Amino acid sequence: MFTGKVAVVTGGSRGIGLAIARALLGRGAQVAITATSDATLRAATADLAAGASAAAVLAIRADVRRHADVEQAIDTAVRHFGGIDVLVNNAGVGVFRTVAEMSVDEWHRIIDTNVSGVFYCCRAALPHLRARGGGWIINIGSLSATSPFAQAAAYCASKAALNAFSEALMQEVRHDGIRVACVLPGSVRTEFGGRTLGGDEWKLAPDDVAQVVADLIAHPPRSLPSRVEIRPARPPKKG
Ligand code: NDP
Repeated sequence: MFTGKVAVVTGGSRGIGLAIARALLGRGAQVAITATSDATLRAATADLAAGASAAAVLAIRADVRRHADVEQAIDTAVRHFGGIDVLVNNAGVGVFRTVAEMSVDEWHRIIDTNVSGVFYCCRAALPHLRARGGGWIINIGSLSATSPFAQAAAYCASKAALNAFSEALMQEVRHDGIRVACVLPGSVRTEFGGRTLGGDEWKLAPDDVAQVVADLIAHPPRSLPSRVEIRPARPPKKG
């Protein structure tokens, strides 16, 4: 279904990004994944290549907080596969502390990754999407953007900023055939923010988010689902 399409998935080495990379490969796309850790990138590449042609997978070490890394990663993907049709801005971090306890470095880590990183990636990818006559930018946001909670001020603020960024960008580029959507998951079963797995079977699976991303890319061109919320169907009842 996505044969001939090239996707870049930031933070594609584990969790939701890995599931998205797997889903896109499974539908015939060629996929470049990025992350900062070489070890997890290697493990992810082996995992992805086992389910698809190894030639369809490219791993690139790049920190989305670093503008130069991002420019180089996008150039590498374009040189390797011949262009880019889809950018999935998935790389993100969370540090969950009160404002009083959060360090300045932690604040910058969250904002630089979840907001500035998305800007750098979009800015680098847009000329290449235009060169292909259009494509998709899909940003992985969070329900915390619209339902903030305590001990997550920086994270919630970063995802609220991402919502606004996505919507403004969508208006700037939709007439060029570039479709922008923000996907807002609720709790997903990953090790995000240092969480441990177990006892959380009620949460979304990374594959649930990946399916939404793949469905967006397959969506007919006349309409644009620009924001998709996805939440666990049966979370524990409150009270
Ligand atoms: P994980 O922690 O499992 O994976 C995060 C991925 O991002 C890893 O591949 C990591 O690789 C990469 N990454 C982190 N920092 C950077 C960076 N500076 N540059 C490049 N890559 C980076 O997280 P999830 O899969 O759970 O989360 C993915 C996205 O989904 C995030 O944007 C998160 O905010 C969002 N989300 C998650 C939810 C959840 O409950 N899990 C709920 C709602 C949204 P490495 O560490 O090697 O760099």
